[in-house]
Amino acid sequence: MKVEMLDNMGTDASVVRAARVSYGKETKGPVADALLIDFLIRNGHTSPFAHVVFSFRLQVPIFVARQLMRHHVGIAWNEISGRYTKLGDYYVPHLYRFDGNDKSYSPTAQKVYENSVESAIRAYEHLLESGVPREVARGVLPLATYTTLIMTANLRALLNMFEQRLTLHAQEETRDVVHEIFDAIHDKVPISMKSFTYWKLDDKRVRTLSTLEQHFHDITGGKATEEDWQRYLKRIGEEGALQ
Ligand SMILES: Cc1cc2nc3c(=O)[nH]c(=O)nc-3n(C[C@H](O)[C@H](O)[C@H](O)COP(=O)(O)OP(=O)(O)OC[C@H]3O[C@@H](n4cnc5c(N)ncnc54)[C@H](O)[C@@H]3O)c2cc1C
Repeated sequence: MKVEMLDNMGTDASVVRAARVSYGKETKGPVADALLIDFLIRNGHTSPFAHVVFSFRLQVPIFVARQLMRHHVGIAWNEISGRYTKLGDYYVPHLYRFDGNDKSYSPTAQKVYENSVESAIRAYEHLLESGVPREVARGVLPLATYTTLIMTANLRALLNMFEQRLTLHAQEETRDVVHEIFDAIHDKVPISMKSFTYWKLDDKRVRTLSTLEQHFHDITGGKATEEDWQRYLKRIGEEGALQ
């Protein structure tokens, strides 16, 4: 599987600019801007994040593509055509899943999987050699066949995707791909991603006074005063965000 960033537009500053337009002011300095992003994430005010956009090329098995392409609000998708392009590369998973059950498979199970996919690919190639059009022959290809997608998504849509697909409920391969997307955009919008991770991805149990203080220092880059911290703490208390 491959994840390649092709293009991007916008930064944390774009989120702040969009959020503040209602007040006719774009920035109030790095500390206030970071705390604004943190507030937006905490409270689910996600529309300003739609002003940051990323494009990726993804090479993933068809079963992962189907799951990813269910995310469509704020995301544009294009896919390689099996009518014009010969397909045939395929993905081989580890059959084992870390799902809490100690399952053991027969030693031949992995081989059965691979043989079955290879035999389908051979049938596909045979059909093409016999002159069957690609759009017809592709019908015998398995879900493990790789497809190529171009995905252009705004950050608001990506946050929704991260929330759903970075949990243990999501399929492992889809989670791996989405994790690579997450890692790739992290440094482009570091404050947004730090706040999102702390408030939306991390287990609620890690949210204590000391992790909150660490998070506050991370997003404000050590530029905040004691007064800023106390104001932040008061706000978090009023919102009940640590409960
Ligand atoms: C673990 C997991 C298992 C899943 N299993 C299945 C399954 O078995 N079968 C299946 O079909 N799907 C399944 N899905 C897909 C899931 O139902 C969603 O379609 C998919 O995750 C995309 O999420 P979304 O609707 O939030 O994204 P988007 O379609 O991008 O929508 C983004 C947001 O826009 C809003 N929105 C979108 N469409 C509408 C609408 N029509 N009306 C009002 N508001 C809208 C919602 O707030 C939504 O969260 C699964 C998803 C996950 C994460």
